[in-house]
Amino acid sequence: MKNSEKQNDTKTTVKGSKQTIVQPVSGAAKELKELFIDSLKDIYWAENALVSALPKMAANATSAALASTIKEHHAVTLNQVARLENVFDLLGEKAEGKKCEAMAGLLKEGDSILEETEPGAVRDAGIIAASQKIEHYEIATYGTLVAFAKTLGENDAAKFLTQTLAEEKEADCLLNEVALNAVNIVAAE
Ligand code: ZN
Ligand code: FE
Ligand code: FE
Ligand code: FE
Repeated sequence: MKNSEKQNDTKTTVKGSKQTIVQPVSGAAKELKELFIDSLKDIYWAENALVSALPKMAANATSAALASTIKEHHAVTLNQVARLENVFDLLGEKAEGKKCEAMAGLLKEGDSILEETEPGAVRDAGIIAASQKIEHYEIATYGTLVAFAKTLGENDAAKFLTQTLAEEKEADCLLNEVALNAVNIVAAE
């Protein structure tokens, strides 16, 4: 079968609509361990992208509480990058990133929010919204990574990943507090 035909393989579903069946690329993950490592590379790219992006978000925040929450999370994120390097070490894998399209998109959206808002409380509300989308993506990702690590019996890796998961949840809570305490109230005025 030619490649072009392969990509158009279809399957009739229960409801009778034709759905495209995706053909894997060569070297695609066969085992959960490989998917686990690919997912680690994805979040490693994402965390490094955040290390670069968070200072800009902090600099554009008007609320001192918001700026310091983001700066604090920047320091936490640097440590998360180092923690991922430990996880790669534990697994005997080289620490390398693979572009996370989701985080790239979330950061792009964050940039457009900056362009589309005046500095002040409204922009701050936008920065919080963008930041919480990012934290929720990370919470989902680390939740899955912890589950994969436990399934694979990689218990030391699971411990490291659980620590990061807790930090992402904490960051989300802190952003909620900033929003509730000040920013959204001022933004609504
Ligand atoms: Zn990702
Ligand atoms: Fe993170
Ligand atoms: Fe991703
Ligand atoms: Fe985070």
